[in-house]
Amino acid sequence: MNKRLLLHICCGPCSITTLKTLLDDGYEVTGLFYNPNIHPLTEYVKRRDGCLAVAEKLGIKIILKDDEYKPQEWFRAVAHRETNRCFHCYASRLERTAQIARKGNFDFFTTTLLYSKYQKHEDIASLGRDLESAKTKFLYHDFREGWQEGIETSKEWDIYRQQYCGCLYSENERYQRELRK
Ligand code: SF4
Repeated sequence: MNKRLLLHICCGPCSITTLKTLLDDGYEVTGLFYNPNIHPLTEYVKRRDGCLAVAEKLGIKIILKDDEYKPQEWFRAVAHRETNRCFHCYASRLERTAQIARKGNFDFFTTTLLYSKYQKHEDIASLGRDLESAKTKFLYHDFREGWQEGIETSKEWDIYRQQYCGCLYSENERYQRELRK
């Protein structure tokens, strides 16, 4: 019997080769879109819809947590620790993923954050390992190996590609130069 796995998905492009790898490895995958770190809401919707488009192409079921999209709570949680905000951001999303995986009797959970060359890969892997339980294990895989193929396929499939990591802080860093024109 295939092992059931819950995959936290941050956006469409990061999920393409991650999903293909997991499916090729024989996992029965369900996706989870839980990302209150994406601002503003219109950007959240674009990434969510990109995730849904990839899932449809690959025949994957997605658990959407639109009802838990509460940026106010996210901002409160990172207030006064903005320089270390990414650690909190990873932790909050992985904690929720592990919780849903346990409740849903999944054998494994993992995240598309392990696909990105721009994220702190070791921090994410370490957090995932800390959150595993006897019932639901964290699956570590270096999904960055599919980086280039993921980019090319996302363009081919016309999946929305974001220009900044997600939060308003990252948007500000991305477009800082606009202020100096
Ligand atoms: S930069 Fe990205 S990972 Fe870091 S806090 Fe913002 S959205 Fe989260």
